Amino acid sequence: MNNRRKMLLTIAMTMFLLVLAGIFIQQKIVTMLNNAAEHSVARQTEDISLLAGERFRRFLTPLQTAAMHLSTHEEDKRDVLNMLSLQCPEGQAGLIDFQRHTIGRPVSSDSFPRLQLAFHGNTVIDYNPDIGILLATPVVYEDNVRYVLYQVYPIGALPKLFALSDYDAFTHVIIQYRDGSLAVPYENYTTEDARFWGDDAIQQGMREVHRRLQRNKAAAVYTEGAEGKFFVFGADLPQTDFSMIGYMPWSAVAGQIVSVYQRVFFLFTLMLVLFACLSIYLLMAQTRVAENEELRQARAAADAANQAKSQFLANMSHEIRTPLNAISGMNEMILRQAPPGEIKHYAHNIKSASTALLSLINEILDFSKIESGHMELVPADYQLTKILREVCTIVGVRAQAKNLQFKVHVDPYLPNGLHGDAGRLRQILINLLNNAIKYTPTGSITLDISGRRNESTLYLRAAVTDTGIGIRDEDKSRLFHVFERLDIKRNCQIEGTGLGLAITQRLLKMMAGTIDVTSTYGTGSTFTIELPQAIHSFDPVGAFSLNAPPEFEDADIPQTSFIAPAAHVLIVDDNEMNCFVADSLLKETQVQTVIAHSGADALKALQQQSFEVVLLDYMMPGMDGVETLHKAKELLGDSSTRFIALTATALSGSREKFLHEGFDNYLSKPMTGEDLAAMLHRYLPPGLVEKPPKPAPAAPQPAPQAADSPAPPSPAAEAPPLIDREIGLKYCNNIQALYDKVLAMFSEQSAAKITQLDRDLTAADWQDYRINIHALKSSALTIGCRALNEAAKAQEQAAKDYLAADASPQQQDQAVAYIEQHHDNIMKLYQQVAKLAAGQA
Ligand code: ADP
Repeated sequence: MNNRRKMLLTIAMTMFLLVLAGIFIQQKIVTMLNNAAEHSVARQTEDISLLAGERFRRFLTPLQTAAMHLSTHEEDKRDVLNMLSLQCPEGQAGLIDFQRHTIGRPVSSDSFPRLQLAFHGNTVIDYNPDIGILLATPVVYEDNVRYVLYQVYPIGALPKLFALSDYDAFTHVIIQYRDGSLAVPYENYTTEDARFWGDDAIQQGMREVHRRLQRNKAAAVYTEGAEGKFFVFGADLPQTDFSMIGYMPWSAVAGQIVSVYQRVFFLFTLMLVLFACLSIYLLMAQTRVAENEELRQARAAADAANQAKSQFLANMSHEIRTPLNAISGMNEMILRQAPPGEIKHYAHNIKSASTALLSLINEILDFSKIESGHMELVPADYQLTKILREVCTIVGVRAQAKNLQFKVHVDPYLPNGLHGDAGRLRQILINLLNNAIKYTPTGSITLDISGRRNESTLYLRAAVTDTGIGIRDEDKSRLFHVFERLDIKRNCQIEGTGLGLAITQRLLKMMAGTIDVTSTYGTGSTFTIELPQAIHSFDPVGAFSLNAPPEFEDADIPQTSFIAPAAHVLIVDDNEMNCFVADSLLKETQVQTVIAHSGADALKALQQQSFEVVLLDYMMPGMDGVETLHKAKELLGDSSTRFIALTATALSGSREKFLHEGFDNYLSKPMTGEDLAAMLHRYLPPGLVEKPPKPAPAAPQPAPQAADSPAPPSPAAEAPPLIDREIGLKYCNNIQALYDKVLAMFSEQSAAKITQLDRDLTAADWQDYRINIHALKSSALTIGCRALNEAAKAQEQAAKDYLAADASPQQQDQAVAYIEQHHDNIMKLYQQVAKLAAGQA
């Protein structure tokens, strides 16, 4: 704003200076042009003066000729006078001697004082305003002037004989004595003219002309007065005491000056207009730049704040989830003990509150992930009916609990095999159906699944219709706003955050889908989504039934969506068990795996053969994941090998961190078979990926051997199981045999690992301690032991605190004290878990 004012001031000042400069330059030019005009008029005046001199000479020449004749023929006085009178009847001729005797026209020196000069040998012209002009020339006898021969031209005849004809209609010339008094006026010279010649400006001009005539033959002066602007000009008439003086209006000469003046004026006006336009443009541009800069800064600040908020939300949700898990776990234990009435009631309340809190945290985490751009889609092949069945099972229970009728219509001709992010589709459908249930007190909920096909894309349509409270027209525009809940008065009893639809809409946007709402307040609403999904199998959905036998869930082992027998994958992890798990999980995909237990081994393997994908543990003793990655890249040069980091600490923003370091992506440990398969599917060259052969219906699946595998130990429902088989199995793709092997490995390795950790502690090698306890953290979770996982996590954090670059000695002491205090207990727990694992394997 300040800048703009400064700019305006500068422009105004510059305009003012420009106008001043314009006026100055214009005056300079006019003065120069007037000077030039003065010179030009003076030259013309010189010509006129010659003409005027000629006029006098015409009358003087016969007089002088007659005088010469008389000087030799004195007796011819009368004849000469007669002859002169005949020659020019207006000029009354006469002869005067020293005694002032005159013959012919009498004259006196009083009337014509210059007559005296003729007696001194000069030819003179004299003027008497009452009588007229006298031309006189001496008659010389032997070098003495004896007479003066003269002619007197009366006033009346003067203008006719001597006046200079007008230059043009505006220009008048008079003949003056050199002292400035009038000698011969022009024809029709009136009193009005006499008054005009008496004007101060004209008089001043005449004085200047006379002054200049002292040095020049002719002169002209520009003058300006009450009568207007004029050029006064003049020239001395040779051989006389006269000067001719004239004036002409400035406009008569200044035609060109005016046009130059107009051009200068035009140019300056043009310049001013251009300058004004330029200034306005610059001002606008500067304002825009300033505004843009302000906007940019504001946006950067807003982005940074938003990023910080999202990060904070992500961290907080993550952090809240851990104690929340403990609360729900403990509560579950209370419920399992079948407590008496009131406690059971409380425990149920805790359960529903913690479920609500968990869903809220999940929504916040999802939303912050979307906002900060960390939400990633994981597209894979899926069966539409499977997703629908899952959704309907969850939602059906809720609808039933609220006594709502739940109807599902699925177009039987829709292709069943689709490709997309099934997890997100499930989330969207559950969200819309949950809302329908929440906001419908009585009646029904209907899910309509249809779609239109365009080549190999299915535009899947899902419409959720309810007979609920509906949405007011004026509220519809706020439906998708974050944390916006509508009709609060009616809905205050209904749990919700106002995030669900915002997340739904953003997820759909990420997947190129749309959402549409129609609703009648008090009658019900329909939310319709459309989502493009690639078709990978055109087998139709057929008659959809919620109770259909799970023909595609033919085993607890998820069927992988691809095989890649020609692909080579290198698994690098210092922890044998992790390598084993990853290797086993990949078996189904038929990829060829090689295992390396250190960075150095990995480099050796890479030298020996080529791999399409390398799964590289991030934290390894010695050469860590990043160093191995850099060396491998150096070694491989431009190869197309893709590197996936395996990490046990993946928070929001990790992807950027790993990408920045040069990885193509990352996987959080422990990982599920699905995670691993999806990642491989994404990074293996498409040419190596094949469809899996359809499992023969008769062929028995290797798992789940519910009958022959030992039942999960039920510790008399007294304490939570130290090893949660469900978690462990999940990380082993629900393959019992694999899980058993993992348990066995865990217990086998435990002694060596404990020795290693003890050694690190004694040697105070916190770097190594951190790496080894970190490995324990993830392997504990892989077998399903949360307690050991949590304890190792806390211990790792302490080691991290000790190693932090900005840790003070005091903080380091505290960290070491913490580690030392907990180490023994953790090792005991480790031994206990290892023993249990050995028993379960
Ligand atoms: P919430 O967690 O509050 O349900 P949502 O983002 O899912 O948040 O929905 C935002 C608001 O839209 C809800 O608070 C509710 O007022 C309104 N709404 C959503 N779905 C329906 C529906 N099926 N019928 C009536 N109102 C609905």
